[in-house]
Amino acid sequence: MLDGCTPWPAEFAARYADAGLWNGVDLGGLPRTWADRYGDDIALVHGPTRLTFTELADRIDRTAAGFAARGIGAGERVVLQLPNVPEFVVAAFALFRTGAKPVFSLASHRANEIRHLLAVSGASAFVTAREHRGFDHVALAEQMLAEAPELRQVFVLGAETGVADPRITPLAEVCADPVPLLPNDPSDVAFFLLSGGTTALPKLIPRTHDDYAYQTRTTSQVCEIDAADVYLAVLPVEFNFTWGCPGVIGMLGAGATVVLADDPDPQRCFELIEHEGVTFTSLVPTVAHLWLEAREWLGNDLSSLATVQIGGAKLQPELAARIGPELGARLQQVFGMAEGLLSMTRADDDDETVVHTQGRPISPHDEVRIVDEHGVDVGPGAVGELLTRGPYTLRGYYRAAEHNARAFTADGFYRSGDLASRTGTGRLVIEGRIKDVVIRGGDKISAVEVESHLVAHPRIAAAAVVPVPDEFLGERTFAFLVADGLRTTLHELKRALRERGLADYKLPDRVEYVEAFPLTPLGKVDKKVLAAAARHPDALRDWAHAELRKAS
Ligand code: AMP
Repeated sequence: MLDGCTPWPAEFAARYADAGLWNGVDLGGLPRTWADRYGDDIALVHGPTRLTFTELADRIDRTAAGFAARGIGAGERVVLQLPNVPEFVVAAFALFRTGAKPVFSLASHRANEIRHLLAVSGASAFVTAREHRGFDHVALAEQMLAEAPELRQVFVLGAETGVADPRITPLAEVCADPVPLLPNDPSDVAFFLLSGGTTALPKLIPRTHDDYAYQTRTTSQVCEIDAADVYLAVLPVEFNFTWGCPGVIGMLGAGATVVLADDPDPQRCFELIEHEGVTFTSLVPTVAHLWLEAREWLGNDLSSLATVQIGGAKLQPELAARIGPELGARLQQVFGMAEGLLSMTRADDDDETVVHTQGRPISPHDEVRIVDEHGVDVGPGAVGELLTRGPYTLRGYYRAAEHNARAFTADGFYRSGDLASRTGTGRLVIEGRIKDVVIRGGDKISAVEVESHLVAHPRIAAAAVVPVPDEFLGERTFAFLVADGLRTTLHELKRALRERGLADYKLPDRVEYVEAFPLTPLGKVDKKVLAAAARHPDALRDWAHAELRKAS
């Protein structure tokens, strides 16, 4: 396994292999297997582009040969940042074929994140768009070439790069006659997903060929996908949810068609559903809400839609109950994480279970513990932290030994930072979280990261970021600040954070100045009080009064 990754202990690896869960699949070889099986059926649709399974596999082979001819070799890391376009699927599988390991960056990432991903992965190449949603990615790539010592080349979506730098090549030119390439060791890392974690910058999650093949196959079975299905990839394709739950890989593996949507805009998505006969899609609650609102004025025929998966953030029961009647599709709740564990409601679950729970793990080999603050397992109905280990849950983040020592128990359970309970019938209910994260419309924002950028501003002495509930986004980002001299406006702060290269979705939605932060008895910033104050401004005053009473 790649250096810097933590393999499963031998006894677990043997157990998963003996049970047939890990069955030696090389992700790089999948498209050809699919082409042999589904040949001329349509695999991918994007705008006017329609690729059959054979065309997709051929494109992947040619692109893999093109990457290999440009020196991208086995074991190298490549940061992959593309929107929902067929080239994402082609580049990802072509990189798998060469044995290189793509690092899935979000299309919304900016200099701050890309710099970090390049540094932590030591990537030698960067695949990106030329321009996306008004942002000049080539300028970013040029900046990264100047800054990142290991970055040797950049590939830009399209036939032209718009710049003369010979290290920047149009992705369309990464194409050559297919060459024989060595197969991958299925137990090795295939690619990296990003943690939506608590640390200042995302940690890299190594996913192996074996574990991801198992995840996508199993979710595809749980969701009863077959070749007649048509999947609408609405959320960013680089999300674990869209890529593999069952997502793009699980759908293509079952012979289904994947339709790539540029964004979740209801008008365009409803047209795609109607036009392509979409049967299945995956949404975060914010997008589901948007679609339900739009349903009132968009009368498209959505009758093909059979299942809507919703996950990534807490789905409120009121919203859950509206999915069936208003979209005419069955709801499937999904609780998942790029680190591994996936829990889903099932087609034969009753309405109560589907509306109020996040279902049960997809694999009988998933081990889930719910523990109190002393690490002791709690019974049904009681709330505790969810810990997990299993055949597709990581044993350690990439090159993060110190963090791993805290994020995992000694016996390899991943501490999710999520609070959960279990119903009498064994269903999981996500009750909240103890990790310092804001989940804004399904995007995970590390509070520590935003705070570190805020305090870099010369006028900010201290910053504490908390979530505040929001009807549409689920949560928004609320920053409490202690000023150093004059107070700065939210507008100016946003400008300064953007200038530091922070992705837009991480910018605070609201700021509030305070004289000092409330502290816990251990002297840490008391975020519970701040989170309450973000909801009810009186909470801070109540806290101050209570402190004064204690002191007197
Ligand atoms: P990510 O790895 O970015 O998909 O984020 C995983 C995290 O999203 C989980 O650890 C939870 O905090 C949160 N999450 C995912 N699905 C749900 C859900 N159905 N309900 C509540 N939180 C969720």
